[in-house]
Amino acid sequence: MADLRLAGIGMTSARTRDRLVQRLRDQGIDNLAVLDRIRNVPRHIFVDEALGSRAYEDTALPIGFGQTISQPYIVARMTEALLEGGPLENVLEIGTGCGYQTAVLAPLVTHLYTVERIEPLLARARERLKELGVRNVRFRHGDGSLGWKAHAPFDGILVAAAPLTVPEALLKQLKVGGRLIVPLGPEGEQQLVRFTRREQRMERESLGAVAFVPLLGGTT
Ligand code: SAH
Repeated sequence: MADLRLAGIGMTSARTRDRLVQRLRDQGIDNLAVLDRIRNVPRHIFVDEALGSRAYEDTALPIGFGQTISQPYIVARMTEALLEGGPLENVLEIGTGCGYQTAVLAPLVTHLYTVERIEPLLARARERLKELGVRNVRFRHGDGSLGWKAHAPFDGILVAAAPLTVPEALLKQLKVGGRLIVPLGPEGEQQLVRFTRREQRMERESLGAVAFVPLLGGTT
């Protein structure tokens, strides 16, 4: 029964997922490992059962608490941008949400640390990843703008909510050569940005316009 739930039928079947993968390819995603994760992670278990039939549409969907599961294209784009340039050992994710992005990324890196400020979302994400047999993730309930000092420095940081400016702690916790992917700016004017830490400076590349929920302070 559990296996059937993960495999999906009808609108959540392998064929429906293949169509999503083809669509992402057409939009320029070409990292095969990333596309493979999009094909294999059952996105329908991360949303409400009532929304399951829409899980393989390329759109954001509500997950409660005023938050959304990220659009598959954005998850793929951010993951690809993070991985470009070589394998990553120690990665920090801010904004676990329902855990979908976490599930896509985890097997592609050695250790993944993920921080979420809304406790019930984090609890559910933890359960789902367990159900999927993903084991290299550590979860933390907290304010991700402070990073996760105990496990720093990171060779990759992925932020799934938009601050106005990059939190200082995240820049500090990035290794030399490490990459930080972050949506930056106020609602309606956000850009996805990749920072790469060099010895003496930060390199900055813009990866295009995006729409994310804001990065908030504190926890609930
Ligand atoms: N990638 C996620 C969706 C993220 S939505 C997925 O696949 O489901 C953005 C998430 O960032 C929300 O869950 C929100 O609660 C969280 N968030 C916002 N500000 C935060 C902060 N300062 N620290 C940790 N999480 C934060």
